[in-house]
Amino acid sequence: MRIDIVTLFPELCDTFLSTSILGRARNKGLFEAHCHQIRDYTQNKQRQTDDYPYGGGCGMVLYAQPIADCLREVIRQCAEQGRPRPHIVFLTAAGQPYKEETTRRLAACDSLTLVCGHYEGIDERVIEEFGDEEISIGDYVLTGGELASLVVADSVLRLQPGVLAEEQGYQEESYWDNLLEYPQYTRPEVWEGRPVPPVLLTGDHDRIQAWRGRQSRERTRTRRPDLYLAWCESHPITRIPRWKRTERACLVRDAAQMEAAARLAAEARRTLYQTAGVVPGSEPSPQTLREELENRRREGWAFYLHSMSGTEDGLVGVCHKTGQIGYLAVTEPSRGIGIGTRLLDFARKKLAEHDAPWVAVPQDNLALIGLLIRMDFRAQTAANPGKMTGILSENVGFRQQIYRIQTPLEKKL
Ligand code: SAM
Repeated sequence: MRIDIVTLFPELCDTFLSTSILGRARNKGLFEAHCHQIRDYTQNKQRQTDDYPYGGGCGMVLYAQPIADCLREVIRQCAEQGRPRPHIVFLTAAGQPYKEETTRRLAACDSLTLVCGHYEGIDERVIEEFGDEEISIGDYVLTGGELASLVVADSVLRLQPGVLAEEQGYQEESYWDNLLEYPQYTRPEVWEGRPVPPVLLTGDHDRIQAWRGRQSRERTRTRRPDLYLAWCESHPITRIPRWKRTERACLVRDAAQMEAAARLAAEARRTLYQTAGVVPGSEPSPQTLREELENRRREGWAFYLHSMSGTEDGLVGVCHKTGQIGYLAVTEPSRGIGIGTRLLDFARKKLAEHDAPWVAVPQDNLALIGLLIRMDFRAQTAANPGKMTGILSENVGFRQQIYRIQTPLEKKL
């Protein structure tokens, strides 16, 4: 790849591209970089590069002419090397936000030219004439485009074959797959009383990978819900994990089973209230939940208790009248091993008489929303606004959203 930077500070950019990982790769010839001084292309005696803005206002604006001539020279040099016309990017505060997917797209270019503005910016006409796109590296204003161009150059060049020692290096990093990276640790094992997570010392590669995956998803869910939901959409669960030999789901019939179901439902409700920041102590007791479940049963609901090796650790309810799935609960120690997924799948199969079983989810329960999306449920469209949001409990006022299965069940089975 050939990269050109058009700037008033070529030495600054060149130093960066000659340092550390990029410097070593450049020396090995893994990419070619050229930093051009805009001033060298001026046509006035003072080698002035900027002037007052038409229409008044503060600051100075870079002339179109020296930048245009510099770009023509870059285009000529590329042609001389038998390369296509370079992809020309202007770094501007008003450009499109820079993302990992932009990095990958730009990394596929044979030659990339980055133009740095300064002062109040660049005469718009040269951007119109030469620019293939404008990129902003964030919602803030820098004094010049140099740092922005180096951000783009660094993130694009590290994707060039051979620049990083291991390709997996970047495939596991934040944003590659819409997920943030898991936390990293190095020696010593205990630092100022803080031990490294024990799983990382086991040498068990599969367990370590599973832990990292969970950390990654958890971090993304709590820090960047937008990315998490995008990841869920692009990672549907196509194969439901098989039920373990000791795993059962049985219909709640007798009093003891109802008691266990109410206990599990109360635990789930507690978690829900905590997430929503409801004053502790206002959660319903297992006794209240028991009454609620019994009332529901009279309205046509059926409840199923999940157990592993005889220990009850999950619950799900289905309403045959309405096609609703609810009361999904998995005890804290049993989370993260696919029980929720299997129970949801079990519940939707129990509702096979309904085209599109549905779940009402509190809007901030991103863990459940993510799972539903991965299992082909989608938020009800605004075409049905009356059903979109509601109140789960009058007292605490959760906002909830309806998620419905997309593909009718008989087509899936
Ligand atoms: N007057 C401009 C505006 O309000 O959009 C800001 C000009 S800024 C002081 C000078 C130069 O810094 C810009 O021409 C651009 O090249 C660069 N720059 C500033 N903020 C940037 C950002 N967030 N991303 C990319 N480049 C930026």
